[in-house]
This record gives sequence, structure tokens and C-alpha cells, in this order.
Amino acid sequence: NQTNPAQEVAQLEGELGRYKGVWVFIEQREGHIAPVSLELLGAGRQLADKLGVELAGVLLGYNLSGLEASLYEYGADKVYLVDHPVLCYYRTETYMQVVGKLVQEYLPEIVLMGATTTGRDLAGAVATELATGLTADCTVLDIDQAKRLLLATRPAFGGNIMATIVAKKHRPQMATVRPKVMKMGDPVPGRQGVLVKPEVSLQEENLLTRVLEIVQEYGEQANLQDAEIIVAGGRGLGDKESFHKICGSLAEAIGGKVGGTRAAVEAGWLEQKYQVGQTGVTVAPKLYFALGISGAIQHLVGIRGSDIIIAINSDPEAPIFQECTYGIVGDALKIVPNLIKPLQVL
Ligand code: FAD
Repeated sequence: NQTNPAQEVAQLEGELGRYKGVWVFIEQREGHIAPVSLELLGAGRQLADKLGVELAGVLLGYNLSGLEASLYEYGADKVYLVDHPVLCYYRTETYMQVVGKLVQEYLPEIVLMGATTTGRDLAGAVATELATGLTADCTVLDIDQAKRLLLATRPAFGGNIMATIVAKKHRPQMATVRPKVMKMGDPVPGRQGVLVKPEVSLQEENLLTRVLEIVQEYGEQANLQDAEIIVAGGRGLGDKESFHKICGSLAEAIGGKVGGTRAAVEAGWLEQKYQVGQTGVTVAPKLYFALGISGAIQHLVGIRGSDIIIAINSDPEAPIFQECTYGIVGDALKIVPNLIKPLQVL
């Protein structure tokens, strides 16, 4: 199934060459745009500039008019807005149909989505519908300008290698990127773009799925990804009680949220959604405390966007000390209460 360079060029000029432009699926809930979508507009802008094509946002939902303005400010040249009651809440079935139809009509060469619960579900469904390739959980996106190919890089083999994946024979080239991996660009106030409102025929009675109830999750701990301060604990904290006493009290004292390693999650000390790392969430806080965490590569890939990492570990050889901004060698169970004491006096 190999192609030679001449065949590749012929393919690009032929069928594949009809696909032009970079699209970002804009995830929104009740009119609030997910930060990852704005991060992807920044990344998409760079890809579009390298290819010399347009960057478009694809916005689906209900009662969203006016929301497109901020997408232009974050770099979109165009917004495809499908505003329909049936799209009020995310459903794989409806969103896949609409995004699939838009792609078939307007033929973008690249489609990017956030690797969120919604984005992961939708990207897989759309790629299957369109019989195209999808690279999930990318950490770097670039362009091979000569071949007009998306170079989608992601950790592979347990984070031990970085694999760059290309879709030579299929369009669009699809990729998902985790929140916080790409830095959000600065908006350009007043930047204008073109609004396109494609017609879609969708009827609730023809759908296989119904939304019966929306259950909101509230609470201090929600959205670890957006936290500015995270206090994370690992197996070194000993047991569930010490984990919560140490991480909880420090988090409370400095206004942070609690996260942990996979070892802590597997020990049943905290829920999986608070696991940081390759198979958990990627975070980029201003301050990340790593308490009793060894610094395995699968954990480190999830915290590299942090501005400052402070590690406390009793083993001076622990790999976390190669990665942290400040390191304290010692027993976290003794050091943390001493760190908190002066803060509690304030
Ligand atoms: P350990 O590695 O056991 O480290 C505990 C540390 O605590 C040690 O360094 C020790 O010196 C220190 N310590 C002990 N007592 C004290 C004390 N009193 N005070 C201070 N320090 C102390 N891991 C993740 O975290 N996130 C992931 O998403 C993730 N995904 C994975 C995916 C795959 C495919 C695989 C194979 C593994 C994954 N892992 C992940 C697991 C990862 O490899 C490590 O096993 C895990 O991160 C280790 O967690 P830990 O640092 O809490 O525990």
C-alpha cells in the first residue's frame, strides 16, 4: 500500500487537493465556549497560515447568535453556525450528522477538536462517518508544507516515545488535543470574520436518542484543568486519611484544588477524574505542589504546562526533582503542616 512521491503529489492535486482550510469544532455549553476551543483556534491559526488557507470555527447549539464575535477575535476567519433547537444539548447522533454533512459540503483539509468528553466522542464518530483518520490526544501540531500534511504528534507506548502521525490518503485530517496543551492566544478586540449559517433539516421525532434530564455537577473540586493552584498527592502520603489531611489542608490554606497520581487513584484515595497525567487530566496551573509523588513520565506529561512546580519527596533521587522548580527533600507528612502554620496565622 506504499505510494511513491510522484503518486503523493498526484493525489494531492487530485481528489485530496479539493479539501482546503482548517476547522476547529467549537465546544460550548449553554453559550459558554470551552477554553480548549479558543486554545485550538490559536493552534489552528498557525496551521492555516502555514498552509495559506482560511481558519473556520464550527459552532453548533441553540440560541447562540452573537457568540461568533469572540471566535473572530481569537483567530477565526469564518464561523459556520448551526443554530437549531435539536442541537441545544450535545448528542453524538445529531452533532455527528451535522458536522459530517458540513465537512462533505465544504471540504476542510484539517478538523481539530478538544480531547474533552464531548470532543473525544464526537471526533471518533465523525471520523468513522467520514471514513477518515483521527489522531487522538495530540500534544504538538505542525504542517509539512511541501506535502500539505498535518503532522500530529502524541505520546505513544506509555509515554516513552513521541509518535508523529500523518494521514496521507484521507481527508479531512482529524486530531484531538487535550485542554491546556496549547496556550490560548491573546484576542484581537474587534477583529471581524464571515458568518455562514448552513441549513440543516433535523427533526426531534426522527432521532434515536432523547435528552431526559441534565444533571449538573457542582462543587469546589470541579474543573481541575482550570485551577490556578493544584495540590497533588501520591503514594508517598501513605494512606487515604493522610492524603486528604495533607493535600486538603494545604489546598485550603492556599486556595488550591486537590489532584493526585494514578497510584493514589488506584488506592481508592480519590476519584479518577482528579487523576493528573497521561491517562488523567492535563493541567497547567500557576502553582503545582507534588507531594509524595515520584515523577513517573506518565505523571509528568500531565503537569509540564505548570508555571511553578514544588516537589516534596523523601527520596533525593526521585525523578520529580529533575522536573520541579523548587524541591524539598523530606517527609511531606511533617513538612506540609509546618508550611501551613504561618499561613493559618495570617
Ligand atoms: P510512587 O511512584 O510509588 O512514588 C511515591 C513517592 O513518594 C516516592 O518517590 C517516594 O520516595 C515518595 N515518598 C514516600 N514517602 C514519602 C513521604 N513521607 N514524604 C514525601 N515523599 C515520600 N500515573 C499518573 O500519575 N497519572 C497517569 O495518568 C498515569 N497514566 C499511566 C498510564 C500508563 C499506560 C502507565 C503504564 C502508567 C501510568 N501512570 C500514571 C502510573 C505511573 O507510571 C506511576 O506508577 C505513578 O505515577 C506513580 O505514582 P506515585 O508517584 O504516587 O507513586
